[in-house]
Amino acid sequence: MRQFTPEVVLPARRGHEQAVLGLLRAYGPLNRGELSRRCGLSRTTLHDTLTGLLAAGAVVTATPDEAPRGRGRPAERLALNPAAGQALGIDFSRRAVYVAAVGVTYEIVGTAGEAHAPGLPWPDRVALAERLVRGLLGGGLWRRALKGVGVGVVGPLTGAWDGSRDGALSGVAALLGERFGGPVLLDNNTRLAALAESTLGAAAGDQDALYLRLSYGVGGGVVAGGVLHRGADGVSGEIGHVPVDPAGRSCECGGTGCLETVASIRAVLDAYRARGGRGDDLPALKAAVEARDPIALGLLSEVGGQIGRVLAALSNAIGPRVIVVGGELAELGAPLLEPVRKALDAGAVPISRHRLTLRRAALGGVAGALGGVALALGESPLLSRYPAPEPEPEPEPGPAASPADSRAGGPADSPVGRRGGRGGPSPRPAAGWGAAQARPRRPLTPLPSLPTLPVSRGRRAAS
Ligand SMILES: [Zn+2]
Repeated sequence: MRQFTPEVVLPARRGHEQAVLGLLRAYGPLNRGELSRRCGLSRTTLHDTLTGLLAAGAVVTATPDEAPRGRGRPAERLALNPAAGQALGIDFSRRAVYVAAVGVTYEIVGTAGEAHAPGLPWPDRVALAERLVRGLLGGGLWRRALKGVGVGVVGPLTGAWDGSRDGALSGVAALLGERFGGPVLLDNNTRLAALAESTLGAAAGDQDALYLRLSYGVGGGVVAGGVLHRGADGVSGEIGHVPVDPAGRSCECGGTGCLETVASIRAVLDAYRARGGRGDDLPALKAAVEARDPIALGLLSEVGGQIGRVLAALSNAIGPRVIVVGGELAELGAPLLEPVRKALDAGAVPISRHRLTLRRAALGGVAGALGGVALALGESPLLSRYPAPEPEPEPEPGPAASPADSRAGGPADSPVGRRGGRGGPSPRPAAGWGAAQARPRRPLTPLPSLPTLPVSRGRRAAS
């Protein structure tokens, strides 16, 4: 298997490449003259940049313009390579890696996933992601053509996008950047699954949605007013660490009796065996449920009740219209979800009781990776309140462009978009991902400091 070779690219050169790729992404095929006018790079710099991109396979020559006879050779047009992946999403779940890739027109090129043993070291998990991406794209991954890599990891992210304030994750972000080449953005993997379900899945189009994933961990995501909520310290969506049993088991977050200690796959299987059930894994439990095993059904009824009471409390606090339940346990279906619904109905405030919809997730295990793609593209209105990632290095402006004009990007901040077209091609609409309604993202403005109340720091959330 061919490996991606780490390479050193000078920041200025990378900025030039991103400027050119951004224009081709926004406007489709352009000839060299059009590119030169729009990106503001000097003739020599543009020539060198295009030579590099053509050699790397990120850019290809498109069918030349039709030209009348006798007018000489038509100008060669350049386009993004349609076979190259343009954005990647990777979900590093507890026991599996999932990947997703989209191409030039933001269509999904493919998704893949593979389970692994718990506790697999990070370099091995990154290598697995690399192998899965290679399997999806074959020779079609031109590293420097990537707009970005959106990466989901377990637990809240308290620091910057690249994990630089999150200890071990900074090494992971650096390793991913080295292996894949594009800018790397990190976020909580379950929140990314919520983003995907709200973009392409069970809650698409719903402005107020709550997502819960019941897997080896239990977590979720909140969409309020059409915006994905990240929360202070990136802690929003840690539904698995809501306490449900003060006398329950210790949780890895440091708490006691969290929802995760009763509603994760491991917790449910442990409880099933403790009650005399026979089954070491999820397929065995599914088989028992299908066989109407009273131990399994009784257990799921109790667990569903605990989940439903937590969802009712959250619903009363947040006011979602839709609650989406995903993860492997949700595949057990009605024996788990009906008790969830009953407890939800019993606990939700009367006004929302019969208007709240409970749905199964639609995207399966790859939801987190698809959310990573949406994060990398950065154009979903759901992300409009997310802090903007660190900008890519910018090329020096040429005489025809202001510094702001030289940035690579979508139609919203592209030079021609600002100048009203100047007779050239219009920015093309990007399909899906909410791009058509995209709003530019801005860093959140810090509020003046307010007096804070002392809060216990004894619990460390981790889902
Ligand atoms: Zn916990």
